[in-house]
This record gives sequence, C-alpha cells and structure tokens, in this order.
Amino acid sequence: MEQRKLKFASALLPTGWASDVTLTLGPQGMIEKVEAQSADKTVKALKGIAIPAVPNVHSHAHQRLMAGLAEVAGPGADSFWTWREVMYGFALKLGPDDLQAVATQLYVEMLKSGSTVVGEFQYLHHQPDGTPYQEPAELTLRCLKAAEEAGIAITLLPTLYAYGGFGGQPPVTGQRRFINDSSRYLKILESLDKASKANPQSRLGISPHSLRAVTKGLLTEVIAGLDRMGRTSAPIHIHVAEQTKEVDDCLAWSGGKRPVEYLLDNFSLSSRWCGIHATHMTADETQRMAKAGMIAGLCPTTEANLGDGIFPADSFLKAKGAIAIGSDSHISVSPAEDLRQLEYSQRLRDRTRNALAAGPGQSTGRTLLDLALKGGAKSMTQPVGALAPGFRADIAVLDDEHPALIGRSEDSALDSWIFSGGNACVRDVFVAGQHVVEDRRHIKEEAIFKNFRAAVKRLTD
Ligand code: ZN
Repeated sequence: MEQRKLKFASALLPTGWASDVTLTLGPQGMIEKVEAQSADKTVKALKGIAIPAVPNVHSHAHQRLMAGLAEVAGPGADSFWTWREVMYGFALKLGPDDLQAVATQLYVEMLKSGSTVVGEFQYLHHQPDGTPYQEPAELTLRCLKAAEEAGIAITLLPTLYAYGGFGGQPPVTGQRRFINDSSRYLKILESLDKASKANPQSRLGISPHSLRAVTKGLLTEVIAGLDRMGRTSAPIHIHVAEQTKEVDDCLAWSGGKRPVEYLLDNFSLSSRWCGIHATHMTADETQRMAKAGMIAGLCPTTEANLGDGIFPADSFLKAKGAIAIGSDSHISVSPAEDLRQLEYSQRLRDRTRNALAAGPGQSTGRTLLDLALKGGAKSMTQPVGALAPGFRADIAVLDDEHPALIGRSEDSALDSWIFSGGNACVRDVFVAGQHVVEDRRHIKEEAIFKNFRAAVKRLTD
C-alpha cells in the first residue's frame, strides 16, 4: 500500500499545538510520520483545527430508537426503573435488520459528532421470544456490520447477562432476549473472536452487565474463557453504582459491601476494567478505584436524563483517576455535550466554575479532552487518541469559520466547541485516514438514513 499524506492548518499534537502539520500514513491508516511547520506542498492543507477524535466508550445502539420518547410524566414518580420498562418494550420488538439500520444511523451520528470509535455494550442476543438465533452472535454481528457500513471503528462488548438481581435471582420476562449461561455466552464470544479478527478496526472485550446480572463465579468463569482465547488484556466493562437503589440492594445482599467496593474486594481491577457510571461512591471507594486504575466510563447526559446522580469527578481526578465518555442511551450523541455536562454537574453541586481544569491558567475544555482521549483509547484497546507515529489517523476537524469559533484558536477553540458550539463545529472526520465526514456530510448519509427511516416506521406503526 502506498503512503498517503494529510495536511492540516492547525493540529493538536502530544507536544502541543502546531501549524501546517503533515501526517504521513502507512498501511491501515496508521500514522508513520508527523511533521509540524511542514513546507510539503504535495498535499493541500485542510483549514480548521485538527484534533484526535474522541472515543465514545459506552453505547447501547438499540436505545437510539427511543431517544426522547420517555419524557412524558407517568402516574407515579418517574425514575430510572420506569424508564427501563419503556426501554424493554422497544428492545423486545427489534429484529436483526432493524438493529442494523438503527446502529448504522447512530454510528453516522457519532462520526459527525467527532467520535471515530464506539464501544458497543450489546445485550440483545436472542429472538423476541427468547430463543437463540441460529448464529448465537447474530445481533452483535449486526452491530459490527453497521460499524463497517458507517466506517466507524468498534470495540465489541457483548453483554453477559444471566440474572435479574443480586445473588443470582431469576431474570424477569422482559429480560428474555438478554439471558445466557456461560457456555452459551462463550459461543457468542467465539463467533465474535473470529469476526473481529477479520476487521483491523475492531476489537473484542466483554461486558458483564452489572453485579445484578452476574455472579462472581460466572464472571470468573467467563474471564477464564476469554483468557483461553488468548485475549488476556481484552477490556471488561461493567455498569456499577449507577443508582442508589442498586447500592442499597448490594449492601443488603452482600452484608455491607457497596458495588464498587465489592468489585475492588473480589476482582483484581486494573485499567483493563471500565466501571460505567460509578456514580455513587464513598470517598474511600473513589480513592481505591482511581488507584486500581479502573477507568470510569462516564455518560453525563444520560446520567442527567435518567436522574442517576453526580459522579465525584473532582476527587476522582485529584486521585489521578482515568475517565472516558460515552453516549449510553443516546439522548445526546455529542462528546462536546457530555464533557460540558460532566463539568456542569460539578459546578452545580459545588457552586463553582472551572471545576475540573488541570490548574490555574489551564483550559477546562483542553483538560477534559486530554482525559477523554487517554482514558477512551485505553478502555477501547484502540490505537487512537493522539496524532503521533504508531497511532491510527482518527481525526476530527473543527471549523474555525463557524460562528462559535470565530476569533478562537487552540485551547480557546476547544473551550468554545465544548461549552458553546457543540457538534455544529465538527466539519470533517477521518477514520484510519479515510475522509468519512466531508464538510458535515457523511459519505453515505442519504442511503443510511433511508434505511433508518424505514426501520423506525416498521417499529412504530
Ligand atoms: Zn449503559
């Protein structure tokens, strides 16, 4: 494969901001050489501000279908648990073609928001009546196909879901499409192991749904199965301490241990692990989780939408904890909005400003972006997050002609993108050096939207 070059008027490099940056790409869109103040005239420089694209580490693709449809008050007090009932209703209707159409549209939206990697925490496995498909990994494979069609990189995180509550309680009927024992789940992993190896932009990990849905014995067995496949560093993502009811149920079941505490005491946590939400932690759990290296997979707009609570980001970051962000329920698909909401949650709680900036004189937007790039790449096991040799050319270009960015550059442009302009500032996106979003349009936007519209019509008629 011949070498290709990309050139940007302004780019964020690991060493800081640089102008006239030429990237030389090798096989599979990997960056081989970076030259700042480049005099190379063989390639035209793209205007705007090039930054490493932000991984979206937590997605349930099927939930894109119901974004905005659970905003009407019910007869009693609405909560996460009443939202979950609405979500289960949608989850029971989707067929493989529907899921693929919805996921492809979602992945286009992610690309247009400046994310080039998705972590798909996929828990729909079986037919609507609970019978497995002939291909046990059918629905997760449809997400892989959707990613290939949209041109996004994907880390497949098939969900291990066996129980309906702490201590191995039987699942409820609305969960029948999710449920597997270890042998059925390992068959899903085997299919995905093969499929994932055929796509250089895909990775494979697992997602035990939560401590409600697995037991220590089952999870240990599945991690051993993953190790036997040679995937000893594959990521492990788990929902943890999202809701106070979950904390109370865990305390009651375990005889006094909270969810994050239980994980810390029962598994050897490391940066291989990503705790999704980790909203409700004591000061001690916060310190211990940061020290263990377990990444906090935060989904601030979903957490706000569901009324989950506020993640202790200030103390977690002070303890050198690693964070990543995801759009989860897809009530908003925007890394800018998720980073903004994360910062605003701290400001509202503490009645302060610039709560998460790295220090005096430091940009809050830049601090948050740096953290989300580093933690996101690690939790996805993808070679992204920096414009440097050895990384893939996954790049978002902010439009410095957008009204929100006029007169801004470098860190001030990041602040104005995250706190003001949002997705509308993202003009071009590259995945492995391929130009998939050109001037705010995805290269297959119309065809993908047509399929999505047909799927929504089928499911809502
Ligand atoms: Zn989730």
